[in-house]
Amino acid sequence: MLIINFEGEEKGLMARPRNCRRVSSMPESNYFKPRGIPLSMLEEVILTVDEFEAVRLADLEGLYQEQAAEKMKVSRQTFGRIIDSAHRKVAEALVKGKALKIEGGEIEMAAMRKFKCYGCQHSWELPYGTGKPESCPSCKSGNIHRAEEDRGYTRGVGRERGGCCHRPQQKQ
Ligand SMILES: [Zn+2]
Repeated sequence: MLIINFEGEEKGLMARPRNCRRVSSMPESNYFKPRGIPLSMLEEVILTVDEFEAVRLADLEGLYQEQAAEKMKVSRQTFGRIIDSAHRKVAEALVKGKALKIEGGEIEMAAMRKFKCYGCQHSWELPYGTGKPESCPSCKSGNIHRAEEDRGYTRGVGRERGGCCHRPQQKQ
């Protein structure tokens, strides 16, 4: 009985429209810790992938909140909340010497196309809708082609839910 109820709830969850945040890149590192403190003594701050993306867009790329919100497919207000939360968490980690872990969040990955250069073997990814690149960004050769392993909406964090969102990861 419990299991049936649980499944029913799950279906209900999937049917509800979600507020997906579009993310175009995953963090290269997802764990940062202060040096010299054993892991067992560390407190962790969890930054979600959408918060990470907000920091990347607003603080690193220097986009206005309107533009960043547009890229993440959320309203300006929602973006404001995401970036505020991200700033608080990063500040908390820095000021209080906590570890910062990046995971989870209700996100969808922007679909990417992968290209490869025959000249220098360099490979890179571009979002759909940007057109085929003219030349290799590394060696400027025009001898480039689409690589097979295109990435859909599923690579990255969590499990796929209804082809769109990822739920926050469960605690291991
Ligand atoms: Zn090249």
